Amino acid sequence: MVIEYLNTMGLLYTKAKIFHFKEKIDSLPKNKKTILAPIHIRIKPTNVCNHNCSYCSYRKDGLQLGQDMSQKDFIPKEKMIEILEDLNEMDVKALTFSGGGEPFCYPYLMEAVKFLIKTNIKFASLTNGSRLTGELARLFAAYATWLRISIDGWDDASYSFYRKAAKGEFARVMKNIEDFKKLKGNCYLGISLIIDTHNASHVYDMIKRFKEIGVNSVKASGCVVSDSGSQNNAYHKPIFNAVKDQIQRAMSDFSSAKFEIFDAYHELDEKFKKSYTWCPYLQILPIIGADLNIYPCQDKAYNLKEGLIGSIKKQRFKDFWYSDKNKFFKINPKHHCNHHCVANLKNEMIMEYLDADDTHLCFV
Ligand code: SF4
Repeated sequence: MVIEYLNTMGLLYTKAKIFHFKEKIDSLPKNKKTILAPIHIRIKPTNVCNHNCSYCSYRKDGLQLGQDMSQKDFIPKEKMIEILEDLNEMDVKALTFSGGGEPFCYPYLMEAVKFLIKTNIKFASLTNGSRLTGELARLFAAYATWLRISIDGWDDASYSFYRKAAKGEFARVMKNIEDFKKLKGNCYLGISLIIDTHNASHVYDMIKRFKEIGVNSVKASGCVVSDSGSQNNAYHKPIFNAVKDQIQRAMSDFSSAKFEIFDAYHELDEKFKKSYTWCPYLQILPIIGADLNIYPCQDKAYNLKEGLIGSIKKQRFKDFWYSDKNKFFKINPKHHCNHHCVANLKNEMIMEYLDADDTHLCFV
């Protein structure tokens, strides 16, 4: 993995961020009575989306992720405000709006953001960028920590092919990005470039274009086509070297203090196999779904059979969170999570930290 050191910022994607929250890590094991608040929450405010991406992990058949998702679900306004009140009271540090659906299609996003602005919670959103306009764009530019826009097509025809989006949508999103960068504020604007066999030969040119329109970073990653690591690797094998070569060339030609390229395009096996029997990260970064269920992570959302921690339909989030610690240990990653997991390497680091032998600790 190449780590980009920027002059103006620290490491944005480092897996070691959680080690700045030592008290939280020490509280995680089952034999510790304390339950501390999550550090970061992802909220899926709505499952409604104005695009229909061919590779969307939530809508694609054959993936465990999203298998029980109802595309109509959204969090009622009063419940959203109640959740935000709880997160504020619990001193949760960060909140990311994500899909399921498109967060900017959520009718109460403005109210949620206006509430967050009055708290110490840092907030961010994933989005397709098509509705990044007007007052919401201004508020995100001024107050959000970051936004990440997912893009796959390289022109209008390819963008519509991927997303079944209306003609002209690609140009509209590009203009929204350019306009957003002209607004006042420090919101860090990234692109999530999802690579598959269709756009594989356009990676270098797309990164170049994104830099030209003023984004701060591009994260390049491979689309997930299966719950099996070897099947994903087999899918990407014919394009793997050519894509890697383009990313490396783009890094060498375009990386700068103001433009980061994060290479997350790699073989997927390392994220699929799990050797541990409980999941540390589900107490650190859980998900609140648009169905008001609590899921352990973005890789098990809307999987009611193997990914459900509980529900806040009839209780407040804070009451749910601080009750009975056993709920955090129902999921056994060794058995339930042998699929893509963005937290796997972080979980392994935490397990190694927690498993260090007390008697020998000081022999650093
Ligand atoms: S091990 Fe990974 S996939 Fe399983 S619950 Fe934890 S974060 Fe999610």
